[in-house]
Amino acid sequence: MSDPVHTPTLFECCAAAIGSVRGAVRPRPADQRFLRSLTDAGLPTARRTVTLTALAQVPRSVPTAAVVEGRFTPRRIANSLTSFVIQHPEATFIVDPSYCVDADHRAIAQLPAVLRGAVRPPVETIPTITALKAEFDPAALDFALPTHAHWDHVCGLLDLPGLPLHLHGDEHDWISRDAIAPVGGVRDSLKDRPLVRYDLDGPPILTFTRSHDLFGDGSVVLLDLAGHTPGSVGILAHTSRGWVLLAGDAAWHSLQVEEIRQKSSYPGNFADADRDLTFKSLHRLHLARHFATVVPTHDHDATLQFATQRDQIRMS
Ligand SMILES: [Zn+2]
Repeated sequence: MSDPVHTPTLFECCAAAIGSVRGAVRPRPADQRFLRSLTDAGLPTARRTVTLTALAQVPRSVPTAAVVEGRFTPRRIANSLTSFVIQHPEATFIVDPSYCVDADHRAIAQLPAVLRGAVRPPVETIPTITALKAEFDPAALDFALPTHAHWDHVCGLLDLPGLPLHLHGDEHDWISRDAIAPVGGVRDSLKDRPLVRYDLDGPPILTFTRSHDLFGDGSVVLLDLAGHTPGSVGILAHTSRGWVLLAGDAAWHSLQVEEIRQKSSYPGNFADADRDLTFKSLHRLHLARHFATVVPTHDHDATLQFATQRDQIRMS
């Protein structure tokens, strides 16, 4: 709920406001026909396991209805800008380096003025580099891998100069296409660092049509979650505690995945690049949740289960 992608026009604001009222009364129903059409291609065969750690972050209490369309209970839910570290025998990498030091000036200032107040996280928000240093040696990181290229998933890179970036080719094409980046604070985060583009060149996995096996051993597999942005991916990780699917912003909260509820029109209309495709990806996640623990990046309570014991106490 913190990454609208362009300056909304008055018409768009009115349409979103009307959509929010309509959605609150009659949320968009699940597409049962589409749901029935989905097939399960199964899990990868994993030959190794990885360790997944959620870095410490401070939650923000937000109205549930502002996140999950038509949902009023519980009245509020916890939202946060969490980053993750995945340790594989061959590499250690950070997922969604979300928040830089002095984000107000270095990232949020690049957003359209009308949106800055709405997306500004609380002052207590922990910069990625601070949370990282509490658990890891930043020099031990081999690369960063964002689920997508919105500012609140990459701007932490500003404090990790030179760290190579793995980015889905579709996402790279999208942010490179226009003279003005689709979101503020993105291009500065990405420039002057090695870029490794990858394509989803692998077979269907679970209910997802394309994949990319990051290490070739089935332990970390990237999945197509297009919609929120054109190149959004989910990260399916084989951990000692079972399969986990980091879902980025394909959903903002697990309630959406469980009930197939799209994001509320405001601010969802400004955050999702393709609202219909995002809804389809949500259906895929809904079925995949039976085989993997689905963790939306901003769902604070979902991320807590992967926090260290010390952070679980501090973050809750
Ligand atoms: Zn996003």
